[in-house]
Amino acid sequence: MSALQPISGKDHAAGGETYDVVVVGAGFAGMYMLHKLRGLGLTVRVYEQGDGVGGTWYWNRYPGARCDVESMQYSYSFSDKLQQEWDWSERYAPQPEILKYANHVADRFKLRPDIALNIRIDQAIFDETANTWRVTTSDGNTVTAKYVVLATGCLSNARMPDIKGLAGFKGKVYHTGHWPHEPVEFTGLRVAVIGTGSSGIQSVPVIAEQASHLTVFQRTANFSIPAHNAPLSQEEREAFRAKYPEVRRFAREETRNGIYTDQQSPDRDEADLRRYRLFCHLQSSERDTGRYQVESDRGDIAERGAHRCQGLRGRRIGAGDRF
Ligand SMILES: Cc1cc2nc3c(=O)[nH]c(=O)nc-3n(C[C@H](O)[C@H](O)[C@H](O)COP(=O)(O)OP(=O)(O)OC[C@H]3O[C@@H](n4cnc5c(N)ncnc54)[C@H](O)[C@@H]3O)c2cc1C
Repeated sequence: MSALQPISGKDHAAGGETYDVVVVGAGFAGMYMLHKLRGLGLTVRVYEQGDGVGGTWYWNRYPGARCDVESMQYSYSFSDKLQQEWDWSERYAPQPEILKYANHVADRFKLRPDIALNIRIDQAIFDETANTWRVTTSDGNTVTAKYVVLATGCLSNARMPDIKGLAGFKGKVYHTGHWPHEPVEFTGLRVAVIGTGSSGIQSVPVIAEQASHLTVFQRTANFSIPAHNAPLSQEEREAFRAKYPEVRRFAREETRNGIYTDQQSPDRDEADLRRYRLFCHLQSSERDTGRYQVESDRGDIAERGAHRCQGLRGRRIGAGDRF
């Protein structure tokens, strides 16, 4: 199985058009770009190789697929009306619901007329004389645009691992990132799952319920914790909605991962101090002289830590590095 294949062309764009912006990909990023740029008065054409919007949530249909950031946060923030009105059913919504949400957004903000489905962008060449991009589509057309935005995601190309003998394997092979649109039946079958990243962790318990025997191959153990997923009550949704302005602000301005939490995180000074100690430990000259210091000022710690880490450049700090 190769990565994403050209899809049967349905909505072919006529060639030769000129746009202000060509956006590649109609996942969450591409759809928002279209909405935003249109609002700025620009002409935009989005090209998507799949036959639907949603990107990640269009392709990843494997059993158990769901988000692992709470849905109340893993959703668009650009429209307060949208976030006040959309009802997520569970704390971590399953893939079909997220895909439904993506389609709802496409309809609600009238995005579809500017999205060409089933068309892959094969080439984009910048014409320095004309100062424009010449963009070639999989149906053989060329359009021009002042800007090209690659909203192609970081996980949208399923990569089949190069496993010896795979081509001759007589059973069926599936990739979580390119799952069939029809349900896959594992009842009574012997199944192997390769990999224990998020997709493996999510799909294993669901496949195990059907398969007669399941073997999981794990090269590298991941750190995972129970999701504590559960249905969301109307009260929980409303309580969350009431604090949306603060949630979104906090996530943007005060976090590194963009995730709001009302749990008390471990003391930041303590976390910085531990990191600083690790840096010191790894930097042998510091370690040898035993000059571990305890500072209370976070900025000071970060500054000294950064300064003393000059010698660590290029060295990766891994889970095995203890301090
Ligand atoms: C199972 C799973 C769970 C996840 N859960 C979370 C989560 O809980 N929280 C979180 O923050 N993130 C999560 N992610 C990451 C997720 O990918 C991003 O949150 C987000 O959906 C990425 O959106 P995107 O629009 O940037 O890219 P994508 O959704 O990947 O969309 C890119 C689109 O570009 C299209 N495309 C690519 N190349 C071309 C081309 N040449 N021509 C035309 N079209 C092209 C693809 O077909 C695809 O539809 C998860 C990912 C997976 C796989």
